[in-house]
Amino acid sequence: MMSTDLYVLFQPFVLLVGLVIGSFLNVCIQRLPEDRSLIPNSACESCGTRIQAYDLIPVASYLLLRGKCRHCDAPIGGHLPLIEALTGLVSWLVFVKLIPDAAHLDIAHLAAWGVYFGFCSLLIVLSYVDIKHRIIPDQTSIYAIPFGFAAIVLLNQLGYDGWLAIGWRQSVLGALFAGGFFKAAAIIAKAMAGYDTLGLGDVKLVAMFGAFLGVFPGVIWVMMLGSILGSVVGIIATIVLRRRPWMPFGPALAAAAMFYVVYGDVVVQGFFPVLALWAV
Ligand SMILES: [Zn+2]
Repeated sequence: MMSTDLYVLFQPFVLLVGLVIGSFLNVCIQRLPEDRSLIPNSACESCGTRIQAYDLIPVASYLLLRGKCRHCDAPIGGHLPLIEALTGLVSWLVFVKLIPDAAHLDIAHLAAWGVYFGFCSLLIVLSYVDIKHRIIPDQTSIYAIPFGFAAIVLLNQLGYDGWLAIGWRQSVLGALFAGGFFKAAAIIAKAMAGYDTLGLGDVKLVAMFGAFLGVFPGVIWVMMLGSILGSVVGIIATIVLRRRPWMPFGPALAAAAMFYVVYGDVVVQGFFPVLALWAV
């Protein structure tokens, strides 16, 4: 009974944590492409006035200020509250997926929530930066790989055995296989198309996915779904916008990876029961 109350209380808490982390992701989105420090020292990007704590409440401050700086009226990007709301939602979705009821509310499962919510936070940052600047920051891809390995070892040590639980071998193999496979695919695609369709950024990205999701079915499934999604969106965008072909593989792969974290068990067990058995 006690733990059920605690479980109910935890849900608004993880939502709140998500909103606050979303605020920090906005700092990363702004500064990673410019190689600036990520230590938040909130000041208006336009007039440089220090922003007070009461104007830094996720989503609410944007609405109260009607999207403008309190001092100089410079518009505040509308993506800021959207990223905060999305991050809050993802935090809660990962929580209820990995900790489905009060009986699973323990240190091991909370650690798993931390790891996979952190993973999804990387996905949000890199998708936005890739769409805006056409680059995937190393901090959100290759530099995150050792953290993926360490996180998997930690979850093993804690005895985590729920959805997404993989061993360190799956993690290492996942990074090597996904990175190698995409590198080969990039070389073949360039030879056939004559220009880069898959960048080195995408190779580092799927290697990072492999470290967190394991080789099978995790990263293989994500590469399949992400590539199909990226190609379809890319072909439609190229036709509609009539510009040089651009395949948004980074964001599409990230969307597939996030979908896998939140709904992958349903898909794996529902559509590929044989694969699910094999993976165990
Ligand atoms: Zn200002």
